[in-house]
Amino acid sequence: MRVLIGGGSGFIGSALADHLRSRGDSVTIISRSPGANRITWTELQRGPLPPFDAVVNLAGQHILDPRRRWTEQYKEEVIRSRVDTTKALVDVLNRSRTPPSVFVSTAGKCFYGTSGAGPDPTYPELTEESEPMGIDFPAELVAQWEAAAEGVDSSRIRHVRVRIGVVLGAVERKSLIGKLWRVGRARGFLPIIRLPFCLGLGAKLGHGRQPFPWIHIKDMVGILVAVIDDTSASGRYNAVAPGIVNNAEFTEAFAKRLRRPVVWAVPAWLIKGLVGVERASILLEGQNVKPRRTLEQGYKFEYASIDAALDDLVQISF
Ligand code: NDP
Repeated sequence: MRVLIGGGSGFIGSALADHLRSRGDSVTIISRSPGANRITWTELQRGPLPPFDAVVNLAGQHILDPRRRWTEQYKEEVIRSRVDTTKALVDVLNRSRTPPSVFVSTAGKCFYGTSGAGPDPTYPELTEESEPMGIDFPAELVAQWEAAAEGVDSSRIRHVRVRIGVVLGAVERKSLIGKLWRVGRARGFLPIIRLPFCLGLGAKLGHGRQPFPWIHIKDMVGILVAVIDDTSASGRYNAVAPGIVNNAEFTEAFAKRLRRPVVWAVPAWLIKGLVGVERASILLEGQNVKPRRTLEQGYKFEYASIDAALDDLVQISF
């Protein structure tokens, strides 16, 4: 199979590309940087699209990049990197004389927004059919991102929409120095939080009761491959593990694997000050997302519980 992956150099995209290549598929990625087995977004738009069997879009500037301050320019980049890349792909796919049989568009679980219900919110169960609880900036972003993908001609191309939870990849600790500074090699959420946890600064965020919809990277790739291969798959699928936990439970479980205590709670006002009010809802609020259609479609999660996932992902040698 010939697969084209927008953002295929990223955390999820490269894991997907590795998996597909390991089973004999040919993979081309769309990137801002040229290279072997790559096409740039500019080349893509110039067209025509070479023949592919499946196209997946995973491009997007990281919204919680700890190295970047939340400015209007960064916000614009976050929006454009998702909406413009999706529009460019949809445009090229619709113009293609030999379109792929499947287009997989992705977006985040932030689609469901936040309830804004005050200090003691409830978290209703959210499935692929649910409407957003309320619109905040991340939900508005996902709405624009998904709307851009809806432009694809679904009479010619099977369209699968995947909403992604927080993807967890491997964390390894090898040397004494590595315990503090080179804790992990993989990308994704865990490497961002590993250093404070290793320093004993791991903390629940706000009240800690907000749901934390997570997924193991192998299941993330597994779902993408399953919806590419399964010609009956179309419409929306949530890529989150069935065993959802809340922020406090996740924090305890991760700290336990690193053999560190959790004695802190980061107050909401500090998080808002650090990452900006518009992004803070990603950390302070949560969505109780269930993978109902994903399970109904027959996908079997390899890592359904957070304990199984962290046992696999956090490999420590003291
Ligand atoms: P990464 O940040 O690891 O990779 C995303 C890729 O997008 C990069 O490799 C980069 O490719 C490309 N990209 C970044 N900025 C731009 C830009 N301004 N314009 C065009 N392309 C850009 O992301 P992940 O693999 O972790 O995530 C993939 C998608 O899934 C993203 O859209 C993300 O928002 C979404 N998602 C991820 C979650 C997670 O927990 N990882 C959770 C929910 C959603 P290059 O440098 O080659 O151009």
